[in-house]
Amino acid sequence: MFAIKRELKLNNFERSLMGGIAGFKRFVYNYGLELIRASWSFEDIQVGDSLRIDAIKKVFTQVTMKKPEYGWMKKYPSTVYQSAFIDLKNAFSRWRKGLAAFPRKKSKKKGDSFRVYKTSGVYPSKGKPALPFTNRVVIDGSNKIKLPGLKTFRLKERIDFICSSQTFTISRTADRWFVSFAIDAQKIPPQMHPIEKVGVDLGVKCLATVSDGTCYTMPTTTKRAKTKLSKLQWRNRNKVLGSKKLGIIASKNARKYYIKLAKNYARLRNIRVNTIAQMTTDLSRRVYCIRIEDLNVSGMIANHKLASAVSDHCFYEVRRQLVYKQAHYGTKVEIVDRWFPSSKMCSVCGHIQAMKLSDRVFCCQRCNYTLDRDKNASINLENAPDKLVRSARP
Ligand SMILES: [Zn+2]
Repeated sequence: MFAIKRELKLNNFERSLMGGIAGFKRFVYNYGLELIRASWSFEDIQVGDSLRIDAIKKVFTQVTMKKPEYGWMKKYPSTVYQSAFIDLKNAFSRWRKGLAAFPRKKSKKKGDSFRVYKTSGVYPSKGKPALPFTNRVVIDGSNKIKLPGLKTFRLKERIDFICSSQTFTISRTADRWFVSFAIDAQKIPPQMHPIEKVGVDLGVKCLATVSDGTCYTMPTTTKRAKTKLSKLQWRNRNKVLGSKKLGIIASKNARKYYIKLAKNYARLRNIRVNTIAQMTTDLSRRVYCIRIEDLNVSGMIANHKLASAVSDHCFYEVRRQLVYKQAHYGTKVEIVDRWFPSSKMCSVCGHIQAMKLSDRVFCCQRCNYTLDRDKNASINLENAPDKLVRSARP
């Protein structure tokens, strides 16, 4: 199983429609929660949560929904309230099992979400067999998605393969709306990669140098944001967020400063995470066989000079993402032995020479061939002898 999440590209009308559906779901959930609590005061009703919720659902569809003031509910898909009651059942069963706190009322503040699903079948529940294809919505590899019971919506990023799913969750974070759904990994067809094989040198100067000539860098905004952050920290170097030991209460300014600091760090992390995710996706789409160096990252972090740059570029993260995207994009990730002298070898004549870390250009002492250090290393990785190469497993 694979989960896919994409941001929806909504116009104002669609935005308010989504808001309306989310409000409907919230209403139903809270309605059910209130009624189940009220039903406990009648001691002569002796049934479990699940049956109680079924009875409440009947009241909802046969009485409440038919009242004229609730006429607006009819314009929304029925799967929305169905899934709200299912959520409520799950919430109660988790609470009974001691896995979660008592179900709380949904509030608008905590981000909205609702589910829709294709109905020509039974809603999937635990222990039931997988559903036949007829119950599924086919997503035909474009930048549009048809949500069951609703119309077609645009996506900000296309889904570039044909897949299908039954249940779709639509959620809101801040002012952005997302759709997520699960697909079977086996159903993703193998992709055609325009490039057969490349070597990738993960570097300090450049995030990744690829042997086909491309280069991925961290956006310069990180540098700017970092400078801003260190300035901020220097200016506030004496600020202390209170001290219980000394009985000092945190000042308002100190509190404001620490919130600002956390926000800045989050922003930097987001930029980093985003860049790496985009890079690994782009590589996996373009190239069939990706060869990377087996880096001794823990050894490099021990070397203090390299520590910041290494943790910055998250070598491990790049490798992890490339490896797990293998199944998704049909790529092959290969790890080149750590003792292979990729940066010390001439990519033309094979001459091996000592290279200082500060040498940014490789200049061969035998054949005079000159090339950027990282570029040279990436070509060497691409052409590494097979006995020094092993395939990466997730
Ligand atoms: Zn040479």
